[in-house]
Amino acid sequence: MKRRNFLRIAAASPIAAALLSPLNLLRGQIPPNRPQGAPQGGFPGRSQGPTEYVPTGPGIKVRFMGTGGADWRGQPINGEYRRNASILVDGKVIFDLTQTAVDMIPADCHPETIFYTHSHNDHYVPKAALDVGIKRVYLGETWIDRAKEDFRKAAEGTGKPLPEFIPLKEGQTVTVEGLTVTALPANHASNYNEEQTLIYLIVKDSARLLYATDTGGLTARALGFAGAGQFSRDRKFLTGIIMEATMDANYAPDQRIFSHSSVDLVAQTVQVLSQTRNYLPVEGQKVYITHLGRSYPPQAEIDATLPAPLSAAYDGLEVLYP
Ligand SMILES: [Zn+2]
Ligand SMILES: [Zn+2]
Repeated sequence: MKRRNFLRIAAASPIAAALLSPLNLLRGQIPPNRPQGAPQGGFPGRSQGPTEYVPTGPGIKVRFMGTGGADWRGQPINGEYRRNASILVDGKVIFDLTQTAVDMIPADCHPETIFYTHSHNDHYVPKAALDVGIKRVYLGETWIDRAKEDFRKAAEGTGKPLPEFIPLKEGQTVTVEGLTVTALPANHASNYNEEQTLIYLIVKDSARLLYATDTGGLTARALGFAGAGQFSRDRKFLTGIIMEATMDANYAPDQRIFSHSSVDLVAQTVQVLSQTRNYLPVEGQKVYITHLGRSYPPQAEIDATLPAPLSAAYDGLEVLYP
């Protein structure tokens, strides 16, 4: 920004004007919140990092089994329908599952592991997990006791064995089925205030895929745990992003802004992560939006209006993240 423009804006802002007071300018003070040596919005040392991503392995295969927000409730619109948000990774690991997406598990796949993001019933239905034969349940430590009780009730009288439960702390990394998965804090809330909801970083070979639903934007701490935060010391870039865009571009602001993302927010997030080289995908890789609300137009129309590299996921879409 040209200094003249900056001063003009500063004059309109009492805080900025105070920071620019002649005394501060005289002393050469750096305004608060701007670390010394870091350009505004910049990442010190980031310019030394790689400019191109060269994959070292086959990568992560994602099957979108459900791409709808909670408001679909099994009701098609104009012949189109989205199941509850769910993905199957490498045919072996599920992230969130309700009965709506059970039919999307391919016949030759028998996933035994599930990661839950949170306990909203458009993501978490114990009966569905038991029905498909889940043996390992990874979920936030903040609600594990409740989940165990829910599963016990769901299994009652069915003769189905209870799975093993593995609690995750924020930032904790586990390895299962060839995937290294890190639990990241989401900006979301369930009906239980003590529950810290999660999003996930999925790593295999050199591929680093962020699966972010449900969340209102990405928090600095989540990016920090993923190695892509502004202040991360151990910097690593993301090579794939799947992010929720519950609200379409034309939505009127409502309470969802506190816990969900709009398509505009996702576009801005990707733009900034790209500019700062915290997102460095292979050429042509799309950023898929998921957990789409019912207010979106039909699939064919969505992609026509989305800014690159955004694309709308749909139920049954399979994507390889090298
Ligand atoms: Zn949801
Ligand atoms: Zn939710």
